[in-house]
This record gives sequence, structure tokens and C-alpha cells, in this order.
Amino acid sequence: MAINLQIVTEKPKLSSANSPKRPFPMEWTRNIGIAAHIDAGKTTTSERILFYTGAVHKMGEVHEGSTVTDWMEQERERGITITSAAVSCAWIPSVGPFKSIKHRINVIDTPGHVDFTAEVERSLRVLDGAVAVFCAVAGVQPQSETVWRQATKYRVPRLAFVNKMDRTGANFYRAVDEMRKKLGANAHPLFLPIGAEENFSGLVDLVQMKAYQFVDDSADPLGLNPAITDIPADMLAEARKHREKLIEAVADSDDEIAHKYLEGQEIGTNELMVGIRKATVGLKFVGVIPGSAFKKKGIQRLLDCVVNYLPSAIDVPPTNGQDSEGKEVPATADDQNKTVGLAFKLWSDPFVGKLVFCRVYSGQLLRGQSLYNPRTRRSERVSRLLLMRAMDKEEIDVAYAGDICALVGIKDVITGDTLCHEDADIRLEPPTFPEPVISMSIEPKSKVDQEKLGTALARLMAEDPTFRVSTNHDTGQTIIAGMGELHLEIIRDRMVREFKVESDAGKPQIAYRETISQAAEGVGKFIRQSGGRGQYGHVVVRLEPNEKGKGVEVINEIVGGVIPKEYIKPSTEGILEGANNGVVAGHPVIDFKCRIIDGSFHEVDSSELAFKMAGIFAFKEAMTKAKPILLEPIMKVEVTVPEEFQGDIMGDINRRRGQIQGMDSREGACIIAAMVPLETMFGYATDIRSLSKGRASYSMEPSHFAQVPASLLTKIVETSTKAPART
Ligand code: GDP
Repeated sequence: MAINLQIVTEKPKLSSANSPKRPFPMEWTRNIGIAAHIDAGKTTTSERILFYTGAVHKMGEVHEGSTVTDWMEQERERGITITSAAVSCAWIPSVGPFKSIKHRINVIDTPGHVDFTAEVERSLRVLDGAVAVFCAVAGVQPQSETVWRQATKYRVPRLAFVNKMDRTGANFYRAVDEMRKKLGANAHPLFLPIGAEENFSGLVDLVQMKAYQFVDDSADPLGLNPAITDIPADMLAEARKHREKLIEAVADSDDEIAHKYLEGQEIGTNELMVGIRKATVGLKFVGVIPGSAFKKKGIQRLLDCVVNYLPSAIDVPPTNGQDSEGKEVPATADDQNKTVGLAFKLWSDPFVGKLVFCRVYSGQLLRGQSLYNPRTRRSERVSRLLLMRAMDKEEIDVAYAGDICALVGIKDVITGDTLCHEDADIRLEPPTFPEPVISMSIEPKSKVDQEKLGTALARLMAEDPTFRVSTNHDTGQTIIAGMGELHLEIIRDRMVREFKVESDAGKPQIAYRETISQAAEGVGKFIRQSGGRGQYGHVVVRLEPNEKGKGVEVINEIVGGVIPKEYIKPSTEGILEGANNGVVAGHPVIDFKCRIIDGSFHEVDSSELAFKMAGIFAFKEAMTKAKPILLEPIMKVEVTVPEEFQGDIMGDINRRRGQIQGMDSREGACIIAAMVPLETMFGYATDIRSLSKGRASYSMEPSHFAQVPASLLTKIVETSTKAPART
């Protein structure tokens, strides 16, 4: 991977990719996300970041310390929270190569719960770096592993913040150790905590070899001015040892530092910081910072590290997209290029209406510009351009490469769409989203609700790619599907709160899928010649299995106009409609390629409808011949249980058709990891309680789809066709 990092010992030089008009050069912008296991302190940490960055922003304008304090207290009463998908703030680091330079930090919201993997995936796609928050007491929790792996998949450089150092049971070193063992991260402290639990009183900076000692709450209630001192004598040996390890870790990916280290030469502070930056951006190193967001400790140091060690848009390899011929093309972070952006989140703002959050990868995005969407093949005009801040929004005229902004005026858009210059030929790869695993029927409570239901569902579906809506053709019921019971509960709650729609829901059902296991051809004919105008559609397709997770591709291979161009689209629609209801048990068909290879038409009788019907028939015939199979969702389950109950829990997992993947022990408790079909997991919360006398806990998240065993197939097919929940 090419890393274009500049070695900076003085004020860094700016690249020519910057337009002279930008308020913040690309090199001085950071797009970051804060990721955490639920309850680790993500919200508190984000709030503190906005609080301090807001304060420092103001501090440049006022000279009275107390004024700042008053302003901050006032803001605090109103409650600063991330109420938006992305918030911009500014930070001036107090140390390092970027010292005294005002940076823009865009904080992009990442959800904590794994039911919302789609949200995590799409936000990771637009970040350049992330701060992973861990709890100093709980350490690395199962869901943190999931988010960590996703961040690795998207090659997002990371820092780790070990939060809640003030809590009883906090152990910084154990948390760092777990990051190494459980996450396989090359994690090393950048700071050491002075004391822990209620005696957590400062940080030792291993780079500067200085200490930040927190001042009494009454003298510095906002934690703004810790005393900078020498390292306490009783920690000096420990600090030296850890600094040594830090240098060693960085030397692995920096030849110059390695050389000096081996020669026993002194390594300068800025030099070490640049080394840390290189190793972090190269995904070879994770710096760890201890703190307590709640007690306002360590956040300013964390912000310094964000600027000093996490990359700007120009430091990471360009994002790739495809042109209309399927060739890979880069979207380079350069203001002079044609505009390329990704719509990563849709948001309904009570004052402004529909906001489209967009990451600009290349070029400049102007207010009033017409943006082309390669999915819809249409252009729409941006009527307003906004920069979201913690407390307000700023109207801007231009967003530059690497920026995050919110667009108003773009209507026909869904999450993951590319928005680009009308002459640009690129489609960014949308984030990949997993298939839903649970579905339920919903019914509006009254006639009024019925009318609003459609609008509400359409809006929610556009916002959330793992949420699906469909109609069961046999019963006429509306079916919603998502990533878990909680996901669907939240959706129903939003329908009530935001759209004022009340609904009754059916029992949750498994969202089965179907696929094929070999290639086959199918012929579809829709020919009617009795009375009036006839109908004539004739389509021949070839179905092939597609790679797992690659979804559905329909490829037109018609040559010589045997099917005229205008009938290709309806034929494709027919194929996709056919794939909504597979031939095994009427469930959606995934992971196949369908090539339209032959067909014929009639000058007078052919119509779009006839080709659509022919498409459906061709698909069904091919699927029947292609050894179709039924797939069920498999969950990754992790149970934490005292050792005495281990045997019972494992026996129970086996009975649920589960496969044990591994076991680990931690402080007398046993952690069992297993893959278990979702079908057997309903009611698990109650069962596990009685099996372990209430002493076990578990977490579960969708993993993949697998073939339903033959012994269960008949039963599932029967129930599916009796009361199908097809989504
Ligand atoms: P999230 O679920 O990750 O967003 O976590 P929150 O920020 O909502 O925090 C969860 C709980 O932990 C809340 O009750 C917080 O007040 C508390 N909390 C967060 N940070 C700290 C901390 O540094 N120390 C202590 N003692 N509690 C904290």
C-alpha cells in the first residue's frame, strides 16, 4: 500500500492538491469515527471531544479564562451531543509536528450495537481513522471484536482510548494486553496512567517523557489545565521501559528509527511522533491512551493524538470506483479533479428536511451544482450545502476533497450512492451490507395509519440498507425484515415517533434465503394469440452461482438485436421479480449471475409486459434445473459462564445444532464461542438463565447463511409455504 506521508519536523508543507481557497487544507483535516462496545463510553467521549474542541475554538477569541468557563457551562446545560451523522470541530494540538496548527476534525457517528452492522460498515467506509473506546474494567468485549474486524477490513488506522480509568476494577495494562491477545493488535501505550480507580490522577507521556497531573476538581472543574511536570520518581523506571518498547514497535516499520535505535542513538520527540504516525497509518501499530471521559481526563491528549497520528484524506490510498465498462478507476483526493462523492447517510432534519451526508473523495462540490447519480442515471441539483457542527449548521458554498458535508435538494438517492460531476465516469463501490435474518409481518392499526405506512417504510428503507420491506403476494401482508429483533423494534418505534404510524406486528420469523448450486439454462415464453392484440415475449437465460455475498447480477449478452433494446429492461425486471420468490420455498434467491443469452420478438405483439413475464418464467425454469438449495442464517454466539455450568451450556449448544468454535477462560469464567442456526435461538435468553441459575450472559450477531440440513428441509418448506414470510 502506498502511503504518502510527509515527514514533518517543522510546519508541514501543503500539497498542490489543495485549492488556495480552502479554509482547512486537506493535510490539516481528520475524518474520524468513534467506535465502541455499547456502554464503554462512546457517547461521553464524543460529547467531551465536542466540548473541548468547541471551547478551544472560542478560547482563541476571548481572553478571560472565566468567560470560557461560563460559556462552556452554559453549553453544557443545553447538552452538546452528536445529534447528527457527522459533526465538524477544530483542534490545535499542543505538541508535535502539527503543534499550534488549527485542524478540522470531522467526527462521524458509528453505532455501538451490532444489530446495526450496516451503519458501522457504512461509516467505516467514509472515515480515514478511528478511535476505539474500551472500558478499563471490562476490557475487550465481544462486540468490540466485531467492530475491530470491520475496521481492519476497511483498512482504517486506529487509536485506542481506555476509558473509565476512574472506576473500581479499572486495569489499563490488562486492557492493552487483551487488545494484543484478542484483537491481534500491535497495541502499545502512548501514555501511562498515574494511579487508577479513585486515585487516577494523571498521565505520563511516553513520547515527551513528561507528566500531566490533573488538578483538583474545584480549581479546574473542566479539566482544562492539568499541571505539566516531570515524571514522578516512582514511575520513571516503568516509563523508560514502556518508551523503549514503544520505540521498538515503531522501529519495525521505520528504517531510520530502527537504525538509530540499534546504534543506541537518541530519538527526537518529533521524529518519534512521525514514526508513530507512519506505523499507525500503515496499520502496523495502535497507540493506547488511558483516560476517563466522564471525569474529563485524557480527552485533550486524545485529541492531540488524533491530529498527530491519524491520517488525513491525502495520507491514505485513493478510494477506488468502477467506470461504466467495469474498469477500476481511482477517486484521488485532489481539489482540481472532477467531483466524486459518496452518499453515506440520509437524515431527516426537522428544520431543513432531507439531508444527504456526503463524503467528497475528489474535486470540489459546489452549491447549485448538478450531481449525477450513476445508479439512477439522473442528475439533481444541490440547493444548499451545509457543514454540521455540534450546536449549529453553517451554510457553505463549496466542499472540498476529503470534506464531509450535508446536501439539501437531492431527492432520488439511497445510502451508498455515488454522486459525481456530470462528466465523471465513476461509481464508487458501495459498502457491502449483510442480508437480513429476521422478518415479521406488520399491519397498520387504522385506516389513517395505512395511508402513512407506505411513506414511512419507503423512507426508512432508503436510510437503512439492511432494512427491507416486501409484500407477501399470497396473503397481501406487508413484511419487514432486518438484522435482529432489536433492529425491527427500533424501526417500529421510529415509525411511531417520527411518522406517527401505529402498527401491529406478527411473530418474528427466520428470513431464509435460496440459492443455486450449479449452472443451468431456462427458457421463458409468454405468448397469447386469442382475440384482440396478442402478447409475445421470449427470453432465454443462463444461471450461474455467484461468489458468496456478491449478491445478484443480471448480464445482458444479447447480440444482433434478437431481443430489441427496449425489452432488455423489462426482461431484467422479470428475472429479478422471479428471484424474489425462489422455487424451493418462495424465499428470495441470492448470490447468482443471470445472463440473458437469447430470445425472440414479434413486430406487433411484443410488449414490455410480455418480456417481463418471459423473464420470470425463464428464471424459474433455470432455477429449477440449477440444483436450488435453501439457506438459513447462522449466528455467531458467545456465552460467558462460570466453569461449573460449562458442560451444560455446551451440551445445550450441541442440541441447538450449534458448532463450538473455541473456548477461553477469564477470571474463573469460561467464554464459549459457537456458530448456531438462528432457528434454534428463539427464547435462548430464558433457557440460558435456567441452565446457569442466571449466571451466564451471551451475545449474538449474524454471521453467514448456510444450507439447511436435508432432515429439516421438508418441515421448513411446509411452514414457509403455509405462512410465508418472504422478505
Ligand atoms: P456508550 O453506550 O458507549 O455511548 O456509553 P456512554 O457514554 O453512554 O456511557 C455509559 C455509562 O458509562 C454512562 O452511565 C456514563 O456516565 C458512564 N461513563 C462513561 N465514561 C465514563 C468514565 O470515564 N468513568 C465512569 N466512571 N463512568 C463513565
